[in-house]
Amino acid sequence: MTREEIAQKLEDHGVLPTAQRLDVGEIILSSPQHTSADQIIAQIRQKGSKASKATVYNTLNLFCERGLLRTVHVDPVRQYYDPTTESHHHFYNLDSGELTDIPPDAIKLQVSMDLPAGTEQAGVEVVIQIRDSEADC
Ligand SMILES: [Zn+2]
Repeated sequence: MTREEIAQKLEDHGVLPTAQRLDVGEIILSSPQHTSADQIIAQIRQKGSKASKATVYNTLNLFCERGLLRTVHVDPVRQYYDPTTESHHHFYNLDSGELTDIPPDAIKLQVSMDLPAGTEQAGVEVVIQIRDSEADC
């Protein structure tokens, strides 16, 4: 995705495409991926952007608010940003920390109890924890 296409995407979601937002957008919105804020900050520094850590966090929060990104929580201290905003599931590799998409229709869940009174289902998101298999020697 070109910088112009990212700018258009931001405008389509009501986000003013400032230079620093475009820097963040180029990293996280250009292809399907799962990236932590720290990884984005490291990449933005490599590109020579002057965006501060706070600016990156504010930009990621804004992108989430406007539906450009969603967050995936895999453990209490780690949050990933995901530009695939349609509902879907994930494999989470405990060894590598890598997230892999699972299409929504690849998991069929059957819940044999009612929702708590006064609630409605807002979504289903499954994280399947995996680890590297023992290498064959
Ligand atoms: Zn995903």
